Formats: sequence, C-alpha cells, structure tokens
Amino acid sequence: MSQSSPLEIVIAGGGTAGWVAAATFARFLGNRASITLVESDEIGTVGVGEATIPQIHNLIVGLGLDQADFLRRTNASFKLGIQFAGWSGEGSEYIHSFGQTGRGVGLIPFRQLWLRGRALGVAQDFGEYSYNIAAARLGRMAKNAGTKTIPDLAYAYHFDASLFARMLRDYAEERGVRRVEGKIVDVERDAENGDIRALSLEGERRLAGTFFIDCTGFRSLLLGTTLEVPYIDWSHWLPCNSALAVPCESSDAFRPYTQATARSAGWQWRIPLQHRTGNGHVYCNAFLSDDEAAETLLANLDGAALADPRPIRFTSGRRAQFWSHNCLALGLAAGFMEPLESTSIHLVQSALGRLLNLLPGDLTRTASARETFNRLSDSEWARVRDFITLHYYANQRDGEFWEECRRMQLPDTLVEKIELFLDSGLFLREEEELFLDDSWGQVMIGQGIMPESWSPLADNVPAEDIGPFLESVARSYRLRAETLPTHRQFVADMVGDPVKERQ
Ligand SMILES: Cc1cc2nc3c(=O)[nH]c(=O)nc-3n(C[C@H](O)[C@H](O)[C@H](O)COP(=O)(O)OP(=O)(O)OC[C@H]3O[C@@H](n4cnc5c(N)ncnc54)[C@H](O)[C@@H]3O)c2cc1C
Repeated sequence: MSQSSPLEIVIAGGGTAGWVAAATFARFLGNRASITLVESDEIGTVGVGEATIPQIHNLIVGLGLDQADFLRRTNASFKLGIQFAGWSGEGSEYIHSFGQTGRGVGLIPFRQLWLRGRALGVAQDFGEYSYNIAAARLGRMAKNAGTKTIPDLAYAYHFDASLFARMLRDYAEERGVRRVEGKIVDVERDAENGDIRALSLEGERRLAGTFFIDCTGFRSLLLGTTLEVPYIDWSHWLPCNSALAVPCESSDAFRPYTQATARSAGWQWRIPLQHRTGNGHVYCNAFLSDDEAAETLLANLDGAALADPRPIRFTSGRRAQFWSHNCLALGLAAGFMEPLESTSIHLVQSALGRLLNLLPGDLTRTASARETFNRLSDSEWARVRDFITLHYYANQRDGEFWEECRRMQLPDTLVEKIELFLDSGLFLREEEELFLDDSWGQVMIGQGIMPESWSPLADNVPAEDIGPFLESVARSYRLRAETLPTHRQFVADMVGDPVKERQ
C-alpha cells in the first residue's frame, strides 16, 4: 500500500535551485513520481552564482552529464580555489585551495610538521606546500595531474548560472518534467492538517501535488509566506547585505581560481568564464553607499563593463525549518549565506541528496524524516556559517567596518574551533560538516590565527630533517605544476576553439 501512494512533486520556481531539483528528481525518481515545475518569466531569476566547490562533481556525475558538453554549454572554467586578497591588510594575500596541503609522514599530519618547521625557522608560507596553489599561481590546469606521490588537482568550476539552469532544464524536460509558465498567486492548504494541496496560478489555473519544493528565491512563497516559517537573521555574524553584479570583457589572465578582494566594507569577486568575467561587490550598506559601492566595482574591472551593475539586497540567514508540512525549501527560499565561499549551489545539492535518502515510500509517514532532515540541515548550515564568519572576524584591515567585525561576539561553535586550533593545531569534523580540516587550516593560517606549538607527534622527526622534508614537498609540487598545460589551453582542448582563439 505504502509504495503506491502517489508522489506528485510540484517545484515552485525555476532558478538554479528549481532546475537542479527538477533534474535530480527526473534522474532518481523519474519512474516513481510525476514532476512539474512552475516558473514565471516575468519575475525572472537572481541569475548570479557562478562559482562552485568540488562537490559539484556529485551533481554532474550523478546526472551523467558529459564534462566537455557541460563546459561548452555553460562557458565554464576551472576553479582550484579562492584567492583572498587584502583580508589581512592591504597587500596581503593567500589562497584557500581545494585539495590537501602537503603530505604527512606516517601518522604525523603535515600541518604539525609545518608548525614545527616554522618554529625552527625553516618553513615557507603554508600555501607553498599546496599542489593546487602551485598550479593556480602558474595558471595551469589538468585532470589526472598527479603522480605516485602527488594527488590529482582537486577542482570545481566557474560557470554561467543562467546557462547552467538552461542546460538542466533541457535535461529535465527530456526526462519527462513538465514545465508550466505562470505566476503563483495563491496557495491552497488542507483545512485539517495544514499541508499544501495546490498552487493557484494566474488565469485561474490550479496545480495540485502531494509534495512541494519551494524554489521561489528570496520570496520563499511557500515555506516563508504561506507556512509562516520564520527567518533566522545571521547578519550579526555575516554583516554584508548588498551586492552589485556586473559582467565585463575577459582579460588576458584566465585564472583557474576565484578572486575575493577585500574592500572598505566588504569584498569584490572576480570570476573568469570563457566568454567574459563575472564581477560583483558584496558590501554592508550601513558602511558604504550604493553609489560608492558601484564606483569601486567599476573602477576595479579587468575589462570594459558589459552591462550596468545589478543590485541585490539580502539578509544572511535561514528559515527556522527547511522542511515543514509537505513542503521543503531549496536555494534562496531556504536561506542565504553570502557568497564568499560559493556554497549556495552545494547546499541545494546536499539537501536534495538528504531528501532522496530520507523520503519514505509512504508520504503519510514523513514526520521522522522531516525531523532528521531539519536537524542535519541545521548542523550543516551552522558549520558553513561559522566558516564564512571566520573570514570576517579574523581580518586585519583598517576601517570601521572591519574593526566592528573583529569585535563581533562569535557563535560558541566557532569559538571552540578557534581555541582547539590555537591549542592543538587541528580541527575535528562535526556532523554534516562541509569544510574539512584543510580548509579551516588554510583560512586560519591565511588570516593570521596561528598555533604557537605543535603536536608532540611531530617531534618524532629529527629537527635537521624537517627543513629538507618541507623543501622537497614544495619543490615537487612546483616542478610538477610547471609541466601542466595552461588553464586556457586545457579548456580550449576540451571545448574547441573559442578560448584558444584569444591566445
Ligand atoms: C550576490 C550573490 C552571489 C552569489 N554567488 C554564488 C556563487 O558564487 N556560488 C553559489 O553556489 N551560489 C551563489 N549565489 C547563490 C545563487 O545565486 C543561488 O543559490 C541560486 O541562484 C539559486 O537561486 P534560486 O533558484 O533559489 O532563486 P532565483 O534565481 O531567485 O529563482 C526564483 C524562481 O522562482 C520563480 N518565482 C518566484 N516567485 C514566483 C511566483 N509568484 N510565481 C511563479 N514563479 C515564481 C522565479 O520566476 C524564479 O524562476 C549567489 C547569490 C547572490 C545573491
């Protein structure tokens, strides 16, 4: 009986979140569910969101997309990490790279050896021991670029978010997803249990379903407006509330990484795509006017602007529950943490993975799944929030905005992380934590939070061997990176001529 309860999924909204959801359901529930997506061309999408993290591979591989086709259709480039410029004061710079920094010796973690080497005065900058960073700085990229002792480069993509949504729409429609064009004007609820029964569309149309996915963006029409799930405001930890986005012509530099450059009250992103560069200025409007923000953005482009800057306002935070009644919110409808670590698309993906694992065959028995889903999502979002907050808190910049960030009262979970790192130089991965030890370590060290001691484990290596060991690691990465093709060449070889022509 249970397996025969109808799964009629209605997705409200067709931005990146809506089409990622539609494609995922079509791939994994296609033979079991009817899937309908409603969107309104008149309302449109946010349309930004061009940088990803390596977990995007789970989506691409999971859907069975061809990598070269994906690169071609979305004008994508490769991303080896994020360069943070100016966060520890003007002129400072570090890269938070994907992949691992250094290599341990037996059970001795690399970072502990580095800390000891630092105390001995024989260690270079921590970033010198990352293969990803060596390749990024040289503008190189390759797949299967490792050796017996060097791991492959860990990468994600930059892409045109609108083209990606379009690609997923084609994918979903080819697999039976029905797309309805129209504006949702009302939501019909069950008088007894409060579940959503149908969406009313303009023109007196009605879209009934048994499970609803709210992907209506910041409006959060179903979860927020209809089911009245409150919004938890995190702007005391993530103070930026405004963004201006503008594409510009490509420059000669086709960097395989995102740039996040600190400005007077926020930061500016630069994301190289095959056909253009994406730029944006994320800032706090209590410290900087919109006009000043636009001026700074336009004065710091790599090439001529291709449009007027587009303003977006937001409040970092999340809905108190992500799944309420028979409605689950994804993307901006669920919440938003500013884009410093490019985490939003990943949070859509991971929520979908969690839902697919938890969704019971019998839709009348979702209470335990819902509770577990919300608990795990709470934990995941809080850890990402802490990670982004760390960048603001641990800044060493001048100016009122940055000084105020340094004075913020941190969440207890982040205080614990910093204290453990200062005392032991390590991080422990908590439940559903996205960023791993290496990411935390790179950002802490990159922004000047430094343990003054090291694990006694590192004392197992004789002091005179530490320097040569560190040097051999850095050297092997550097030399290997020098043999790789340029990022431009690598993309050109995968997609054909457009990038090559500009060489
Ligand atoms: C400044 C900024 C930078 C970002 N950068 C990144 C990044 O680098 N990496 C990353 O992963 N993420 C990033 N994001 C987040 C990313 O843009 C979003 O997560 C992603 O685009 C998902 O948006 P969405 O689909 O939830 O909402 P939207 O794109 O807003 O889509 C909402 C959909 O709902 C529909 N809709 C709304 N109301 C109605 C209605 N009444 N009737 C019918 N349809 C309706 C709209 O038509 C639209 O189709 C960024 C976000 C911002 C604001």
